[in-house]
Amino acid sequence: MPDVSRVIAHYGELALKGKNRPWFMSTLVRNVKSALAGLGVESVRIVVGRIEIRHRSDADWGEIRARLARVPGIGNFARALFVEPDLDRIADVVVEAVRGRSAASFRIAARRADKRFPHASPDIERVIGRRVQEATGWPVDLSRPAFVIRVEVLTHEAFVSFDKEPGTGGLPVGTGGRVLCLLSGGIDSPVAAWRIIRRGCQASFVHFHSHPILSRTSQDKARELARILTASQLRSRLFLVPFGPVQQQVVVTVPPPLRVVVYRRLMIRIAERIAARAGARMLVTGEVIGQVASQTLDNMAVIDEAATLPVLRPLVGFDKEEITAEAQRLGTYDVSIVPDEDCCTLFTPRFPATRATLDEVRAAEAGLDVGALVERAAGDAAVEDFRFPMVQSPVARRAETAGDQP
Ligand code: ATP
Ligand code: MG
Repeated sequence: MPDVSRVIAHYGELALKGKNRPWFMSTLVRNVKSALAGLGVESVRIVVGRIEIRHRSDADWGEIRARLARVPGIGNFARALFVEPDLDRIADVVVEAVRGRSAASFRIAARRADKRFPHASPDIERVIGRRVQEATGWPVDLSRPAFVIRVEVLTHEAFVSFDKEPGTGGLPVGTGGRVLCLLSGGIDSPVAAWRIIRRGCQASFVHFHSHPILSRTSQDKARELARILTASQLRSRLFLVPFGPVQQQVVVTVPPPLRVVVYRRLMIRIAERIAARAGARMLVTGEVIGQVASQTLDNMAVIDEAATLPVLRPLVGFDKEEITAEAQRLGTYDVSIVPDEDCCTLFTPRFPATRATLDEVRAAEAGLDVGALVERAAGDAAVEDFRFPMVQSPVARRAETAGDQP
């Protein structure tokens, strides 16, 4: 056995990126290196439009695989056996590798990245297919094979791979700019954040909590959610904003049916302050049309009016079931369903207005010193940084003393 094994990853959409392609690829290579840190990886590099990862043969493949599956920008990946680009040698390696396996049917899928190789793909498939059939007796099934053996011929070498794993798709984090995600402890907002991260954006998070009026549970949930999302984007910053003082003012002056919309408008304004500090160009929420009373088109329009930055709502068109399924895949679901008292259920009526008008909301806000409330809440935010893989516990500081973005 060689002491180095290799993995070949194909990227998905990167191929479409024209002139920016080298930048997208080098970002992806850097992200893969960081994601696999500590796992005995020796090199990550681009080989003829693919990413080749060399790792020690005794490395933990289960962990490598789990981490790669979360790196945005990777379309699929598989362990690969390398051999010199010679048809007989490739066939020998394939036959040797399938020995001891069983399969109801198979096919060879060959690709010739270097057209100077003297055999066209269908010939490679035929020759190697025959060798495998002789060695195993498996029937060939071109349309619905139980087992696919991939052969790719590059310039100086060829590789054979089986068991292709799906990656997460999307684009490499760092290619899409920075956003600030409003992260509650609920099911939706982490999924919304994930959708944006998967499109290559670096997300910072802001969570509004009502500690010490309520317990610390919501902050713990936000931390845990940030930690899970960090496995995909590798570095995150979480801002924890005390929202209790804001709410105490709101209950004094704002009629109950309008409170939820007013809370959301205040959250948006505070988030904008934090976005400026975090260098984020847009805000992201987990809102879905019609899911709860505050998420009607009328109310979302009134909430947006308080914003100067664009507010992205990647889940607007999703059903709860779809979001829940995604949260389960992502691993955030179990954290999200831990019971806690949401800061917005505090002092909130059971039947909030579903069609708040801007005029009534503005009138309700007239009794608040919005500027001072926003300034103070943003200034009181605590900051925690997360890294993946985790080498030490998150460092908590106050926002003003936080250093550069992670
Ligand atoms: P979620 O499941 O994300 O909590 P939800 O269905 O409970 O969403 P709302 O409570 O109306 O809906 O919240 C709408 C959005 O507002 C959330 O998705 C989130 O982006 C933001 N938000 C709500 N509460 C908070 C909070 N305490 N801290 C940060 N963001 C919040
Ligand atoms: Mg919620």
